[in-house]
Amino acid sequence: MKVLVVNCGSSSIKYQLINMEDELVLAKGLVERIGLDGSVLKHSPIGQDKTVLEAKIENHAQGIKMVLDALVDSNHGVIKNLNEISAVGHRVAHGGENFTDSVLITPDVMSGIEECVEMAPLHNPPNILGIEACAKLVPSVPQVAVFDTAFHQTMPKMAFLYGLPYEVYEKYGLRRYGFHGTSHKYVAQQAADMLDEHMTNLRIITCHLGNGASIAAIKFGKSIDTSMGFTPLEGLVMGTRSGAIDPAIIPYLMKKESMTPEQIDEYLNKKSGVLGISGISSDFRDIEQAAADGNERAELALEIFTYKVKTYIGSYVAAMGGVDAIVFTAGLGENSSLVRDKVCNGLEYLGTRIDSDKNSVRGEAKEISVDGAKVKIFVIPTNEELVIARDTDLICRPLFH
Ligand code: ADP
Repeated sequence: MKVLVVNCGSSSIKYQLINMEDELVLAKGLVERIGLDGSVLKHSPIGQDKTVLEAKIENHAQGIKMVLDALVDSNHGVIKNLNEISAVGHRVAHGGENFTDSVLITPDVMSGIEECVEMAPLHNPPNILGIEACAKLVPSVPQVAVFDTAFHQTMPKMAFLYGLPYEVYEKYGLRRYGFHGTSHKYVAQQAADMLDEHMTNLRIITCHLGNGASIAAIKFGKSIDTSMGFTPLEGLVMGTRSGAIDPAIIPYLMKKESMTPEQIDEYLNKKSGVLGISGISSDFRDIEQAAADGNERAELALEIFTYKVKTYIGSYVAAMGGVDAIVFTAGLGENSSLVRDKVCNGLEYLGTRIDSDKNSVRGEAKEISVDGAKVKIFVIPTNEELVIARDTDLICRPLFH
């Protein structure tokens, strides 16, 4: 069984074709600049060089068509016929309270995803376009939606409700949803495997630290709290996002700087965070370099970022009544030994410390705590595509018997 994993952004489509018997990625690629000048498909078949196909790609349907054509192309294709694709798995950003797990896409499911557009106006619409395009181009192939929010639907009310009048939760669904669910679930499961334990026996804190960053408290296999909220703006200080701030700052700034709601939204999402504090970059490689060169604001950005992560870890230890493992993943978590070191420095009270030799690891799954540490610290590369493919496979397999 071969599963096509599709992740549609506003102007991009990421995809992987995965053979489920051995979980081998047969091809992967990226359509970029949809609807813009210079649109392009970058297609990497297994064991071959990357092919770059420039073409006018006006919309997601054309992008998906190009991807399917590339997969069956006589030169750089990896399958002979589209019939070889058994199912398509789509990453869908927001499932609200409608979806607590991955689902087979039906007209009812589409309505449920549409209902969540208001809460994720930038993310859900391109996801819907991708699903509709596949439904047209390969109508007999079942499609599955895998939600970024679903894994966190196990959070109890005390963790997901804000201190707002209860009506706005009932009227508008204003509550914490959390994101990066597939990533948190995957790395927590991997950590449990590495500990040779069941997730249901462990309390795990997963730190997904990329451009967007979030932390989750996973108690006995279930997400019980996470740092992102109603939108992916809450929580940690991120590359360009402010994370949690005093909400009174918003009307204050809007008045002082004569900002509209759209402008303040853009300010908090795109101009704040590490970029805003440092005035240099949102990319941690630049920040680390500048800090090493003595730039004080870069150093401050790094301190603020890592301090926030540390305080979330502390609060999730309190929420779970202890912790067995802490996991670092995503761009920064997988690659930056400096960030991991700063976050974990001072966690000795928990019975753990990073081993500085082991901490030099980049991009591979490894335990990095000192020998005999009570709480294990791991670096685990995330693999959201694989989770999407596995869920799709699991849901669609019974359809073929
Ligand atoms: P997203 O998927 O949210 O866009 P990623 O998970 O790809 O983000 O992470 C991107 C972040 O990871 C960037 O800030 C980048 O600087 C950081 N990063 C990647 N490699 C390194 C590295 N070697 N050292 C420090 N930071 C790194």
